[in-house]
Amino acid sequence: MVEYTAIKNYLSRHDIPCVNPKAALVDMDGVLYDSMKNHVEAWYRTLVPMGIKCTKEEFYLYEGRTGASTLKFLFDKHFNRQLSDEECAEIYAVKEKYFNELATIVPMPGADRMLQRLIENGIRPVLVTGSGQGSLLDRLDIDYPGVFKPEYKVTAYDVKEGKPSPEPYLMGLSKAGVDASEAIVIENAPLGVVSGTAAQVFTVAVNTGPIPAQALFDAGADMVFPSMPDFADHVDELIKALRTTR
Ligand code: MG
Repeated sequence: MVEYTAIKNYLSRHDIPCVNPKAALVDMDGVLYDSMKNHVEAWYRTLVPMGIKCTKEEFYLYEGRTGASTLKFLFDKHFNRQLSDEECAEIYAVKEKYFNELATIVPMPGADRMLQRLIENGIRPVLVTGSGQGSLLDRLDIDYPGVFKPEYKVTAYDVKEGKPSPEPYLMGLSKAGVDASEAIVIENAPLGVVSGTAAQVFTVAVNTGPIPAQALFDAGADMVFPSMPDFADHVDELIKALRTTR
């Protein structure tokens, strides 16, 4: 459902008459790909043998961080140990190996239609992901041909801080050449939502995983849709409402 009050609240908070999206800053895992289960399983297989007592569920809350940031956080928390970038790269390579061994990841159902609706509304999709997973990044052009131009991609290789810092979404705005009132963020994870709202962008959360919708509202999402097909159904209405001057 398009929540008109949420748009009104965003506009009054930012003191602007409307949002005129020219770019959509689109997260990858859990938005374009149904990949989170595999990430969680790969992290779990990597870290449990290293003595980290974690649950699978907690990785949904770390989603959006870069691999290095997740590793530094967990080793500090469990062993009070500061990992070097080299150590992070070594462990991340193990995680990547497990990830690539798991079942093939499929595009998120409804994502293709969602992107087509954005494009037909004159909105340029820009990729903004914390992922450095080559196997998925390389597939984007196959699964979404021509949608994400190389100059409109922000990945783990571009950013220093990663989500929940606003840095990746600010970089997305800058690559698209638009300001915050000319964009929307499309996210699925609480930390990604924090990053998008910190960049002052109207942030749509699509709840494609096991976390409660409230966690996305609590992170600051302006609007939450219960699934990708549902969001795709409402893109036209949302864009029209955002462009309407109040
Ligand atoms: Mg995500």
